[in-house]
Amino acid sequence: MSLTLSKKAMAVKPSSTLAITAKAAELRSKGFDVVGFGAGEPDFKTPDNICEAAIKAINDGFTKYTPASGTVELKEAICKKFKEFNNIDYKPSQIVISNGGKHSLTNIFEAILNPGDEVIIPAPYWLSYPEIVRLSDGVPVYVYGSKEQGYKVTVEQLQAVTTDKTKALILNTPNNPTGMIYTEEELREIADYVVKNDIYVVSDEMYENLVYNGHKHVSIASFGEEIYKRTITVSGVAKSYAMTGWRIGYTGSSEEIAKLMSSVQSHQTSNPNSIAQKATVEALLGDQSTIATMCEEFDRRRVFMHGRVNNIPLIEAIEPLGAFYLFVDVSQIIGKSYKGNVVATTEEMAKILIEDYLVAVIPCRDFGYENNIRLSYAISMEQIEKGLNRIEDFVNALS
Ligand code: PMP
Repeated sequence: MSLTLSKKAMAVKPSSTLAITAKAAELRSKGFDVVGFGAGEPDFKTPDNICEAAIKAINDGFTKYTPASGTVELKEAICKKFKEFNNIDYKPSQIVISNGGKHSLTNIFEAILNPGDEVIIPAPYWLSYPEIVRLSDGVPVYVYGSKEQGYKVTVEQLQAVTTDKTKALILNTPNNPTGMIYTEEELREIADYVVKNDIYVVSDEMYENLVYNGHKHVSIASFGEEIYKRTITVSGVAKSYAMTGWRIGYTGSSEEIAKLMSSVQSHQTSNPNSIAQKATVEALLGDQSTIATMCEEFDRRRVFMHGRVNNIPLIEAIEPLGAFYLFVDVSQIIGKSYKGNVVATTEEMAKILIEDYLVAVIPCRDFGYENNIRLSYAISMEQIEKGLNRIEDFVNALS
């Protein structure tokens, strides 16, 4: 044997967003006033009642191992939330609590995939899905929702890529990076497709609380026994309660899948942090008013930003209805000249924006769309205004 390394690990694509984020951090450390549209987390403090529950857990000595898949107390709180918010009946034995939604997704694919199984990923997608699927020996299969379709996919498109190797579909509503949400009618059609083809659907509902304009979040598992059996619902507290650093995610699934995920987790990480579990009980059962306060502020920024972006020449965005991102089509910029050089890719555009205009944006090639950038509105209104003015200055400098 020689000192070779894992082919699987080496095949993981490092994120293209890292270069921009690293450049932004470097410039900030040198005192430059950088506007960062890259934020993937709420810019709010975790609510006080949740922090207090964590402090109490420490003072009460709730600092030991818990059952590997989480405490019964938290599983019961999650079941109550699933029943009341999502209209889904799960028993505590169907819940697995993990170290963040990302860990929940990892557990799911480890539990359901065999080598070569295909997983359909509608694009644009959150950039970790393909890597998580590949790490579990699965094969990502992409379907592209066009701008005219609101970046959502149709059942006809899904059916066209379904083969006898298809094991699961990943559904993400509200969506990162587009902010789009699937309507109840669209979800019912997707549910029929899933049942007809007898596959799983992994329903990533991380942004379920962040919906605007009177829209209501709908969970696909709530549509009846047949789709319920085939759905693994994933959520967490990161985005809904400004708790990204606490690392708690969870799933609702069949008992059979929950058991497999628990046993995988019991060897890989054991229980998620005991203190964060106590904090999550308070998040789910305590005062919910901070969600509305956060949503109101996000909504104000969303409306402003959507209007302002569409007033800038050459770029346009559809109106996002959930999450905290704007998915901006910059295809008309590609091919234009900047200081005598052609801007050939969104990565080049992002490089110019950070270096010459001190604005960090996320190019979306790794989200499946090479002609779009993602702008987060989880930053202050003042920053948003300043950043968009700078983007307009860049557009005006193109020829
Ligand atoms: N799903 C989506 C769509 C996300 O955007 C994220 C976080 N960026 C996650 C899952 C993972 O969340 P967590 O921080 O709980 O791991």
